[in-house]
Amino acid sequence: MDVQYIKGVGPKRAAQLKKLNIKTVEDLLYFVPKEYDDRSQFKQIRECVDGEKVSLKVQICGYPVKLAPRKNLSIVKVPARDSSGQALLVWFNQDYVINMLSLGDIVVVNGKINIFRNQIQIMNPVIDKGEREKVGRIIPIYPLKGKLTNNEMIKIMGNAIATYLDSLPEKLPKDIRKELSLLPIREAILNIHFPKNRSYYLEARRRLAFEELLILQLGLLLIKNRTKAMCKGIKFPHVDEVYTFIDNLPFKLTNAQMRAFKEIEEDMEKHEQMNRLIQGDVGSGKTIVAVLAMFKAWKAGYQSVMMAPTEILATQHYESISKFLGNYGIKCKLLVGSLSNKNKEIILEELKEGKVDILVGTHAVIQEDVVFKNLGLAITDEQHRFGVRQRAVLSLKGDNPDTLVMTATPIPRSLALILYGDLDISIIDELPPGRKEIKTYVVNSDMIDRVNDFIRKELAKGRQAYIVAPLIEESDTLDIKSAEEIYDHLKEEVFADFNVGLLHGKMRPSEKEEIMQRFINRQLDILVSTTVIEVGVNVPNANIMVIYNAERFGLAQLHQLRGRVGRGNHQSYCILINESNSKVSRERMRIMQKTTDGFYISEKDLELRGPGDFFGTRQHGLPDLKVANLFTDMNLLKLAQKKAQEILDEDALLLDEKNFLLRQSIIDLFKDRINDFILN
Ligand code: ADP
Ligand code: MG
Repeated sequence: MDVQYIKGVGPKRAAQLKKLNIKTVEDLLYFVPKEYDDRSQFKQIRECVDGEKVSLKVQICGYPVKLAPRKNLSIVKVPARDSSGQALLVWFNQDYVINMLSLGDIVVVNGKINIFRNQIQIMNPVIDKGEREKVGRIIPIYPLKGKLTNNEMIKIMGNAIATYLDSLPEKLPKDIRKELSLLPIREAILNIHFPKNRSYYLEARRRLAFEELLILQLGLLLIKNRTKAMCKGIKFPHVDEVYTFIDNLPFKLTNAQMRAFKEIEEDMEKHEQMNRLIQGDVGSGKTIVAVLAMFKAWKAGYQSVMMAPTEILATQHYESISKFLGNYGIKCKLLVGSLSNKNKEIILEELKEGKVDILVGTHAVIQEDVVFKNLGLAITDEQHRFGVRQRAVLSLKGDNPDTLVMTATPIPRSLALILYGDLDISIIDELPPGRKEIKTYVVNSDMIDRVNDFIRKELAKGRQAYIVAPLIEESDTLDIKSAEEIYDHLKEEVFADFNVGLLHGKMRPSEKEEIMQRFINRQLDILVSTTVIEVGVNVPNANIMVIYNAERFGLAQLHQLRGRVGRGNHQSYCILINESNSKVSRERMRIMQKTTDGFYISEKDLELRGPGDFFGTRQHGLPDLKVANLFTDMNLLKLAQKKAQEILDEDALLLDEKNFLLRQSIIDLFKDRINDFILN
């Protein structure tokens, strides 16, 4: 039913509500508060802390004092007490309160504490004179915009609940609700808006968050199943030679690499199109797993392509792939923007004729003029640097080729299932043996001279160093050193006898590549940069990573940066310069010192910091969540995922009557992607 018919709404307010995406009564009931003002607990005066907002039950214990220090300003102060102590109620320009209060009255007040010369003051408090609505309970605060006020919203919500709550349908099948002890929907909605107390609120929230996550997960699974059913792919034959190839590698695959390859092999040998993500920490050896898949494709007579985000990375891949596969007579080519037109034409021609077996490159490989003879396998490295669309364009270069995407950003599996909902996931959670642990030190800027001395010693041995700063340019507002400042200082003063380079995000791609190339060629000893070096670069001779203002980076990002060193035979070092004394900062630095396990780090990062931009759900094309939080509700998410799978195992198309409303909700939630659905 249209919201307009709720008491107190009408056409004008309905238009305002529409801006909040509220069109029906059900939308309104599901419009949950963003936070609460808890006025249900009375504090003791003695326990009040400066700046907090509190409800107090006090007795008026003195006569009002009125001051008028300036024109247009009058102040009323009234002494009050409870069993723990005394406070002053203070009002500005609200003289009328004098008439509302008499000596000895017991009142409930709600306001902000200001401690002034050891005197506890409650500023402009709201007084309860029988108005139970305003104080003495938990008040919802709605995420509003525009003209609608919170008080109006509370009234509207109250009316909607009084009239329509009883007809709100229950979407969750009864057995699930029973099993997980979830509140019935009507109780949950009532308590999310007007919680009786905190524990009711938590139960209400749990129920609604579960419902939301279940619907999201069901939707994603249905889309994935539909893709599988619709996209017949190439059925690659089994080839034993891959295993001979593996035996002849200069190293033994880790168990995790082997498991990932087996999963890929199984996918490739199926008639369905493969859509798989390989998630593995920096240095876990993802490239070789991709090489095995390409080898398999080649054996079956198909071409492969691998796309990387930068020219340097593409070149490095090209070199290592050629090294692994060159001996087998597999023809591998590199396609990047800097290639001469003539060379480019030759490659494109050979590609079309099927004379090139493997093409490695940057975005250049998805240009229109790139035509394959028979593309069987499309691989994207560092997928987070590409959009969903670019990945799709790459796939369109073939006739439903199998696809593989690789990422070095480890995130917990349950989260990956949501963020990469349409992909199957392989996890490489093991590093090849014999890697030297990177020694990590946390210091503050008082130690900078010692850090520089240390760098100097390593440079003298022929090593190279990265120095990373959070900002490019000097900032007036933040007291942080920028990459430019550090660069100038080091180049002119500290390391004048060495070659120092600067790399940052405002440079043109060709400039960046050039600087990076000079570092790779050892023409630069020190590379000062912002986080642009984060992605996949391999310079084994560099063994020091210094990060200024480490407290300003997320743990996952620090981990990525640290992964730039420790790639050669030399002992490597990561020095984190931490300028913050906060407890959280110290804890974060301690985690970096203690472990190099990327999955553990990312989980801790989410716990301590919440999701960074990287995990923005919008970027992943997911619908917005109203109640649940993918990061902090991890356990609930796991539960919802388990239940979603069970529901679909039993009723793949949600045709059972008990699942009917779930089905309807999924269609509503994913209305933009309705064509991807098996439900229609
Ligand atoms: P990433 O997962 O970060 O892309 P790479 O694929 O670049 O990692 O591998 C990092 C390095 O480890 C490469 O030099 C690669 O040859 C080497 N490597 C990969 N697998 C193994 C293994 N099982 N044993 C030893 N070295 C390995
Ligand atoms: Mg890699």
